[in-house]
Amino acid sequence: MKPIVGAARGYDWGSTERIQRFMGVAVDGEPIAEVWYGAHPDLPSRVANETRTLLDLLEEDSQDALGQFGSLPFLLKVLAPSRSVSLQVHPAPEVAQAGYAEDESAGIARTDPSRRFKDPFHKPEMVFALTRFTGLVGFRNVEDVLDDLSSLRSTLASNMSETLKQSNVTAPDRRRHALAAALYASPAEVDEFAASVRSAALKDAGVTWLAELAAQYPGDPGVAAAILLKRVVLAPGEAIFVPAGMIHAYSDGLAVEVMANSDTVLRAGLTRKLVDIDALLRSVDFDAEATLEVPIESEGRLFVPEAEEFVLWNAEATNTHVDCPLSEVISARNAG
Ligand SMILES: [Zn+2]
Repeated sequence: MKPIVGAARGYDWGSTERIQRFMGVAVDGEPIAEVWYGAHPDLPSRVANETRTLLDLLEEDSQDALGQFGSLPFLLKVLAPSRSVSLQVHPAPEVAQAGYAEDESAGIARTDPSRRFKDPFHKPEMVFALTRFTGLVGFRNVEDVLDDLSSLRSTLASNMSETLKQSNVTAPDRRRHALAAALYASPAEVDEFAASVRSAALKDAGVTWLAELAAQYPGDPGVAAAILLKRVVLAPGEAIFVPAGMIHAYSDGLAVEVMANSDTVLRAGLTRKLVDIDALLRSVDFDAEATLEVPIESEGRLFVPEAEEFVLWNAEATNTHVDCPLSEVISARNAG
């Protein structure tokens, strides 16, 4: 077995201490947002004590150890947001393939910030919390959204309420129209919405989280969109699965994230990166009452989400031994 060394990304939303303390590296005031373990071409892990990366090693592999996948099918990250990370969705496989082909034929380099589809793969992902971990994942109950909107005095909040109450429109379409109303709101409407959230938060603690988001992202329409979404709080050891089409924005904590080996993200707000609202609206699953629960097997050790690319084994490790019975993992995977 060859150990690999993770590769860090220092995005500004990252914590300046969580990953540092977890991995025993110096706290120097710089953020570390993610550490990648895998063979994604954009940031492959290095093989310990070698100059080769895991990607080099797999490309040299003459025994074809990766079988049907042809390349490493998953990517693992340690993730430490200290504030909300982009409101985003990962597209279904056919959308990712078509988008990648479009970006390639338009000649947009993979490193170009205006590039939307970094690779042709879908990206189902699972988050396993190492500390309390919070985020917005999927849509929440319309009645609860209307309740919060009714405490806001703003044109945008009224528009979103009216949209969500339309009786002759299906529930998924009501969500779609309300999300579009939020994301395409004018800067003046967004500012008015944020001001009404601030004053409502003084009277109603239920919208404090939204006021905090508005303070993190002034002028960002993602704040109004966030009112539509479900707040998720994971305790250490809990996991959620985020399938293709599930809108989400992680907020705070330390977690392990496992995903298909892809970096394709469509963003619509709460970010300084490229935003493509049309592409996001086309890719979101507005039916999303989907369960976020991950089936757990092997006495609570094995997390088996609805993704063929990965499972996660929560191992006990010492200096000399890691208790990961591969046969158990493989049989659970094949059964699933
Ligand atoms: Zn994501």
